Amino acid sequence: MHVLLLILDGLSPRHVRPDVMPTLTAMGESGGWNRGGGVGVMPASTYPNHATFVTGVTPAVHGLWSSKIPTPSTDPDDPARPPGSPAPLIEAWNVGPRSPTLFDACTRAKRSTAAVLGDHHLVGAMGADAADMCWPEGGSFGPEVARDALEYADDAATAERIAEAVGRAPDLLVAQLNGPDTSAHLYGPDSDEAFEAYRWNDSAIDSVRRALEPRWEDWVVMVVSDHSQEDGQGESIDLDDAAARAGVEARIIRDGSAAIITGEGGRHPRWLDAVEAVVGREPLAADTVVAWGRPGSSFGEFPWGIPGIHGSPRTSPQVAVVSGGHSAVGALAQWVEATSPRGTDWARKIARLLELPADSGIPA
Ligand SMILES: [Zn+2]
Repeated sequence: MHVLLLILDGLSPRHVRPDVMPTLTAMGESGGWNRGGGVGVMPASTYPNHATFVTGVTPAVHGLWSSKIPTPSTDPDDPARPPGSPAPLIEAWNVGPRSPTLFDACTRAKRSTAAVLGDHHLVGAMGADAADMCWPEGGSFGPEVARDALEYADDAATAERIAEAVGRAPDLLVAQLNGPDTSAHLYGPDSDEAFEAYRWNDSAIDSVRRALEPRWEDWVVMVVSDHSQEDGQGESIDLDDAAARAGVEARIIRDGSAAIITGEGGRHPRWLDAVEAVVGREPLAADTVVAWGRPGSSFGEFPWGIPGIHGSPRTSPQVAVVSGGHSAVGALAQWVEATSPRGTDWARKIARLLELPADSGIPA
């Protein structure tokens, strides 16, 4: 058996339609497909959800609860950091998940792995450099790689690398195509330009499918997305200002249509009740909450003041399709149609399919 986990970045389940994504729709119809989609972890953003895909645990456990997090365990005697000052923020991909990943667990159980990631930051954010083969190596693209408008790899270029990796037949291949997210951010998730990107994405999926075809009966294929996208043309909520007016010490990390609040204002988040534009919140860690606003609202200026955004629970629906010719696909297909899969489910399913030992570090 070989397992492919293919992640389509930023693709909303509502866009998986026969007229837009004929290949993916056909895969879902012949395998299993949850039309309403699965449910990702909060915040509904890229790195928290990708880290969850490879660990099977929530951001509270793997530690990557935003694109940027406070630097873990910084030296308290660091002269660059005055006493009592908050830890500097660091990008999630420079930290990586603190929980064991499928790559670690497979290596220990002598299963071979490969990762092909159109968003190069995912190499760090998913701990993918522990895979036997990882593209882009070292988390940066060579000059020969065609890029999209946000400097991620073009889907066609990534699909070519995925097809090569399929040819090596690793036990586990984790792959990501970034096109839908880039276009939905820049033009809005329901724009003509985004639909063009979804069609381009579908043709990339088709070239992956053709690479799988010669050994179709050996493969279990899971196609998911990390989050959806929503229109982001509405109001901008300034939580720094709201916290200052409430006299609360809070650190606000902006993440599209979500905001992560740490410090005193995260430990005691009741002050948020008085912020009219904020409509919901939930805890992420002991002193950290994630909050979101009314539809269309976001928490800051560029890069978030753009047509398409994500982060709120409105964007937590994830594409959930199961395909492939292996005999294990039938049961998985039934599961995906009967259940709305959680983001934490996929790594657990993969660990079971690859018969990783109970102490692999991936929860059962
Ligand atoms: Zn994403």
